[in-house]
This record gives sequence, structure tokens and C-alpha cells, in this order.
Amino acid sequence: MPPKSSSSVCLLKKNVLKNIYKNPKPLNMSNEDERLFNASRKCHVCQKYFKKAHIKVRDHCHLTGRFRGAAHADCNLKYKQPKFLPILLHNLRNFDGHIICQAIGKFKHLNINCIPNNMEKYVSFSLGRLRFIDTYQFVNASLENLVSNLAMDGLDHFKHFRKEFTDFFRS
Ligand SMILES: [Zn+2]
Repeated sequence: MPPKSSSSVCLLKKNVLKNIYKNPKPLNMSNEDERLFNASRKCHVCQKYFKKAHIKVRDHCHLTGRFRGAAHADCNLKYKQPKFLPILLHNLRNFDGHIICQAIGKFKHLNINCIPNNMEKYVSFSLGRLRFIDTYQFVNASLENLVSNLAMDGLDHFKHFRKEFTDFFRS
């Protein structure tokens, strides 16, 4: 059983998330958004052109109300917020998964699911809305090789790293 303060935090987060998902923010369109919508010739979801038979709609984020772009009505209906938070770990199956699984038993009040390789190794498992995924099962190379390959095409691919570690890129 998790400590009382920990379960209170979990309950608070669960209620906040449930409230956010149940009360989507209405669309908030600026004049510029309206201009972009009218000028859009392609759906921002599938990147295909709008044809006469298609219904063009204003897609927006239900969490912020922000206009995301013009979309086909069908694409807009299929384009939903995921109901889980993906947590990507490289080689989860052989290392981190064991450590995480030892701690998962403490959260008996949350739903636990897994996609197993065998009794000890998992491709993916989920705890409540958290879904742990082993990226090594999809990209079978070491992180060192993946980063080296990416770096050969230039440092522009390291957008998030660059944002967080500005000093590293100055030297
Ligand atoms: Zn579309």
C-alpha cells in the first residue's frame, strides 16, 4: 500500500485529469486562425487536399482551446487525445522493466496490463494511464548508434536537446 500522501496525490491527479477530459475547452479562434482556416487547402491531419465532397472543419485542442488547423470532418473525429501517457524506455524489457515491475505492486488500486514476451519479459505494460513501451523492440540498435547516425545528418535533429542544453551548442 502506498503512503497516504502518495495516494492522495494520485487521487487528486486522477480527479484533475478526469475533470479536464470531461470538460473540453471551447474553440478559441483568432482572426489569424480564421484566415488560416479559410486559406487551407490541405487537411492538417492527413495532409490530403480538400475536395468538394469533403466537409472542412476547425480542429482544436480540447485541453487548451487552441485552433490546430483545418481538417476533414472524418479526420477530426479520429484525431483524439490519447487516453494514456506513453513512457518510452530503450531496452525496458531487459533492465528498467525489472526495477519498475518491483515497484508496480505498490499500486494495487490502479489497473495493470501487459504485453509479455514470456513470464519475465514484457514488450509493454501499463499502470493506470501510464504505458511503458520498450523502444528497443521497434528500433533494434543501441542508443549510441542511433544518436551517432542522427548526428551524421547534422545537429538540427536535436531540437529538444538543443533547447535544454544551450551551453553545449555554443562551444
Ligand atoms: Zn484529413
